[in-house]
Amino acid sequence: MDTTIARKTLEDMRNRLTARVGRIEAHIRRDGKPLDQDSEEALSERTDDAVLDGLDVQERKELQDIDHALSRIAQGQYHVCSKCGSTIGAERLTALPYTTVCVHCG
Ligand SMILES: [Zn+2]
Repeated sequence: MDTTIARKTLEDMRNRLTARVGRIEAHIRRDGKPLDQDSEEALSERTDDAVLDGLDVQERKELQDIDHALSRIAQGQYHVCSKCGSTIGAERLTALPYTTVCVHCG
């Protein structure tokens, strides 16, 4: 498997997430006032604070997983299961780009 593609996929995911998390943080800081840039999209995502908080935590977790996967790529460990050390299949990595364990350990 070409990690260039995996890295691109992960970076795209990361960009989307950071853009979203950034908007959510902006909502909290500005008390729900949407950003000027993409206000229509921001408006559609407006919801109550509890849901925003939940999204924030979950997306931050996802962001950590993506960062972890990117550092595993950088270290040449992307295909290596973090539990048993065997190779994680390309199909699994395509389906779950930021998994750290093989099909047997996951
Ligand atoms: Zn394993």
